[in-house]
Order: sequence, then structure tokens, then C-alpha cells
Amino acid sequence: MEEPQQQVRRLSRRTARLESLLKKYKRKSQLQYTLIQLSEQASTVAELTLLYPAIHNILSQYLPSKSFYVVLQNRFTQALELSYFVDEKDGISVPLHEAHHFKDGVTGFVFKTGETVYLTKDDMLSRANAGDFKIMGSQAEHWVGVPIYRDGAIIGVMVSQSYEAEQSYSDHQVELLEVMSLYLATAIERVKKRELLESEVKIRTRALMQSNEALNKEIENRKRALERQQILFKISELATQFSDIDDVYQQVHDIIRSITFADNLYIALYDKETNWLTFPYSVDEKTSYNPRPFAKGYSELVIRTEQSQLIDSTRAKALALEGTVERPAGYNHKLAATSWLGAPLKTATGVIGLIACQAYEHKHEFNYDDVELISFVSNQIASVLQTHLANQALKISHQQLEHRVAEKTKELQQANLHLQMQMEERKKIEQQLYHDAHHDSLTGLPNRSLFLTQLEKTLQKHHRYPEDNFAVLFIDLDKFKDINDELGHQAGDQFLVWVAQSFLECIREHDLLARLAGDEFVILLDHLTDRQQAEDVAKRIIKVMQQPFCLKGVCMQSGASIGITYSNKLYRNTDEIIRDADAAMYYAKNAGRGRYEFYHPLLTASSNAQKQQEQHHLDKLPTHFRCTEIVNWSDSAQPIGFLEAFGEHPV
Ligand code: GH3
Ligand code: MG
Repeated sequence: MEEPQQQVRRLSRRTARLESLLKKYKRKSQLQYTLIQLSEQASTVAELTLLYPAIHNILSQYLPSKSFYVVLQNRFTQALELSYFVDEKDGISVPLHEAHHFKDGVTGFVFKTGETVYLTKDDMLSRANAGDFKIMGSQAEHWVGVPIYRDGAIIGVMVSQSYEAEQSYSDHQVELLEVMSLYLATAIERVKKRELLESEVKIRTRALMQSNEALNKEIENRKRALERQQILFKISELATQFSDIDDVYQQVHDIIRSITFADNLYIALYDKETNWLTFPYSVDEKTSYNPRPFAKGYSELVIRTEQSQLIDSTRAKALALEGTVERPAGYNHKLAATSWLGAPLKTATGVIGLIACQAYEHKHEFNYDDVELISFVSNQIASVLQTHLANQALKISHQQLEHRVAEKTKELQQANLHLQMQMEERKKIEQQLYHDAHHDSLTGLPNRSLFLTQLEKTLQKHHRYPEDNFAVLFIDLDKFKDINDELGHQAGDQFLVWVAQSFLECIREHDLLARLAGDEFVILLDHLTDRQQAEDVAKRIIKVMQQPFCLKGVCMQSGASIGITYSNKLYRNTDEIIRDADAAMYYAKNAGRGRYEFYHPLLTASSNAQKQQEQHHLDKLPTHFRCTEIVNWSDSAQPIGFLEAFGEHPV
């Protein structure tokens, strides 16, 4: 049996051993717990920097020193770089990720050998002296370096060092460092993978973003292409649809309004020859545009440079300063646009003008997209405008031409009318002259000339158609002189007019009455079939002349002595006919007046000798048997040679 005291001693030793064991297991369990935590961290952390505090926590609890650093090899430079550093002596003054020639020191030595190295200060010196490595940094009393492996290759070194001689590292602590290096390797692996993944994600994201951007750009481009296509379509419509230039301007404005801000827009045209700018279209909230000589405005800048111009307030000031743009004296700067955009109207023959949009008081700021689109519209519209302008000019010149033609036509018509009037006047005068030349001014009857012409025609006709007979009545008024003498010449005239009228009433329409001279009248009776017809007319005339003619209470009376020639194929000319009629009249006169006589050849003498003889013989005849000539009047053309007495023809 064991002594109670012995028993107590044994039990107390056992208790002490148990307590020590308990302490040991407690510490081990704590370490285990910490290591589990480290393991969890290593498998979850995204960055190494988050793992280092956990390592540092283990160090401070289970290792003699808090001095600790991790060196990792840069995959690309192969240099050993500091990844984590906590040093009681050196602090954290050494910048991380910088090469510190670890390669040549004891750290590099561990990296090279791939073995855990535990050295005291003396060991360190002697090994350095032996040329294994160089001494660097502060001299530690105890130095432990553990290699860090990944996939069987060394990637770095984990170092813990103590500056106290009595604070040495036990085997167990060195082992702990080796375990920690394993965890560190796992964490590095994980972080590297994560970094790789993240960089891949980043690359993929960037690629996606780029493709997104490209897609957006593509969409934008397509949108723009569609917009342009629509504009082109509208412009092509313009080229054919509108004939009026003002409509074209309005449509251009509408197109630009569909693209951008166009509250203020003008279209200017430039005439190279006159060097003037005109503004055929303008809509503006502040100002109006009048034609002007080419100067130094924004419009001129566009035309001069043949380029679109975008002018904001800053550029406006710069342009004014450098003298590119000059404002006229008295220009109201308050009216200046805060954003101005002009695009040239370019054609094959050069710039013909521009389209300008502007905004006041910062209502809109034009950008390069606007410049691009308006330049596009301007380029497309320029040739359309040029065509319309040419058409308009053609139309105007055509109108002018038409106007001139109309005026000329009017002038010609007037001249024509005048000429026509002159011609008619002349014709009238000629007619009058002809009338005057062929008519008797007092009675208006045809005169001798007209009568002879007509008689000539009738004679010719008779030669062609001998059965178509005619007669000439030679009338001389009886004692007409007495009327003149008693009542005056004027009354005589009026009597003659009355006689003419009265004679006209005695004949047919186609018969011709003429006044030969004084109180002598002749009548041509055509288309006669019988001498009796001529006789009838003579009788009517003698009868009408037996009537008195009264004027203003005074009555006058004359009478008519008529000699008649009837057509005969022997008549060669009119003189013979008149001569014979006159002869017959003379005979009627002598026979007592107021009567008619037909001509007979015995009334004419064939020669002067005969004339005298006949005159002598005739003197023995009653007065109304007298004749002046004796001619051959028979068809056999045998001389008759004697005078035949004519019977009287009193009415
Ligand atoms: P007779 O019977 O012999 O014919 O006699 P008469 O008086 O008619 O004489 P005669 O025929 O020889 O003269 C015609 C006159 O007529 C002569 C002239 O004074 C006159 N006489 C001629 N022409 C005009 C005229 O135009 N007007 C007027 N009032 N008288 C005229
Ligand atoms: Mg007479």
C-alpha cells in the first residue's frame, strides 16, 4: 500500500502533468482553431493582403518574434519581390514589390536550395563568411526561412526572425512556419487564379464593351444612313416635284427642320459676276436680310473657304480679332447669333451660295453632327437648286421674250392698222379720183370718158355677138341758155341736176346715162332686140322734159332733142357712133326740137367736096333734114349717092 503522503505527491505530480497536458492541448486546440481559420481565409480571400493579418496573428501568439516577411518571385522578371513585411527593427519602411537583392542574401539562399533554413546569428555569419550568401539588413539572433511551393515549384520564401538571443525557434515552431507556408501557397494559388479570372473577366468585359460600342456605332451609323436616305428621298422628290423656286426653298427649310434646330434659316445666293449676295429665302426671329456686296461676314467665309463653318461665341470673337470677319459700322452685337452654322451650296461650276442656320441666346448649340448633316443636305440640294434657278431664269427670259413679242406684235398690229387705214384712205382717194375722173361733178353722172369706155366694151361685144344690139341716145336740151339767162347760172345748174335725175327714171338699171358737156347727155341702151326699145326711151325722155321744173316758186321748162344711133357692124369705133348720134340730134334740133331722130347714113357726107354739094342741096331741105356727111351705110358697101328724106318724129 502506498503511503498517503506518497500518494498525495504522486497525485499532485499527476495533476501537474495533467494540468500541463491540458495547457498543452488547450494551446494545440487554439492553434488548430487558428490554423483552421487561416485555412478558411486562404481558401476564400481575394487578396493576399487580407491573409497576411491572419498569419501575423498566429506569429504573435505562437512564435517568439513579430518580425516576419514574405518574398515572392515575379513571374515575368524572375526577381524576388517583397510581398509582406513586418519587422520589429526595420518597421515597414521597405516598400513592397520592390527588388531588394534578396537573391544574394540568405532569403535567396533558401529560394535556391528549396529547403527550410534555421540560423542563429553566428551560423549566419559563418555561412556568410563561407560565401553561401551575403548579410543584408539588420542582423537577427535567430532566422528561419521556409520555402513556399506551388505545384511542386518554389515561388517564394517566408521568413520569421527574432532579435532576442533567448527567443529561439523550436522545431515545433519551425514546423508551424512550414504549415503556414503551405496555407500561404494555397492562398497565393487561389488569389492568382482569382486574379487570372478577374483579368479574364475584365478582358471579356472590355471585349463585350467594345463589341457593344461597335454595335452602338453600327446602330448609330444605320440610323444616320436611314436619315440620309430619307433626306435624299425628299431632295430627289424636290428635284422633280416643284416648279416654283419659292416652294423649293420652303421644302429645304422643312428638311433641315427635320434634322436639327432651324428656327432661323436663310439661303443666300452668290453672283460671281456682280460679286453680290442675295437672300432669296430667310426666316429669322431677329433680323431681315437685304442684298449686299460681298464683304466679310460669316456667309462670305463659307463661300470663300468653300467649307462648312461652325461658329460659336468663342470662335466668333477669334474671327473678329484676327480680322477674318468684319461687322459693318453700327452693327448691333446684341443681334449676333450664339451659335451659327453655314454650309456651302457646291455645284460643278463652283459655290453658288450657302444655307445657314443660327440660334440666338443659346437656344441651341450646333455640333459637328449638325455640320455633317447640313453639309450633306447642302451638297445634295445645290444641283437641284441650280436646276430650279436655271429653269426660273429661263422662265423669266421666256416671259420677257413673250412680253417683247407681244409688245412688238401690238406695235406691228398698230402699224398695220395705220397702214391699212392709210391704204383705205388712199384707196378712197383713188376711188374718189377715179370717180372724179369718170364722173361729172355737178350731176354725179358718168362723164364722157367713162361713157366712151363702156361704149367701147359694148361695141366689142357687139362684134362678137352681133345679135346683141345697142343704141346710143344723144340728148341736147332745148333753149337751155334761156334758163341761164333768165334765172341765173345756178338755177341752170339745179335744172341740170333735176334733168339727170329725171333721165335716170326713164332708163333700166343696166343702161348707162352720162353727161357729155353743158346741156348734152348720152344714154347707152344695151341688150336690145329692137330699135323700138330705144325709141321708147327717147319718147319717155321727151315727155319728161315737157314737165316744168319749179324751184322756189319759179318754174322752168326746156325740152330735149335726141339723136339715136342703133348698133351696126360697120361701126369700128366709138367716135363714129357718137358722131352719128350727134348728127341725128342735130337733125332733130333743126327739125323743131322736142323730138328724136334715128341716124341715117345720108346724114353724113363722104368727102368735103360732096359736103359742100350736099350743103347746097341740104340748104333746100327743111331744117330738120340736114346732115353733115353722106356715107355708104349699106351692107353691100355701095355708095348711095343721094339723100333720103327722114320722116319727122314728133312725140
Ligand atoms: P339749143 O336749143 O339750140 O340747144 O339752144 P341752147 O340755148 O340750149 O343752146 P346750146 O345748147 O348751144 O347752149 C348750151 C348752153 O348751156 C351754153 C352754156 O351757156 C350753157 N351751159 C353749158 N354748161 C353749163 C353748165 O354747166 N351750167 C349752166 N347753168 N349752164 C351751162
Ligand atoms: Mg342746148
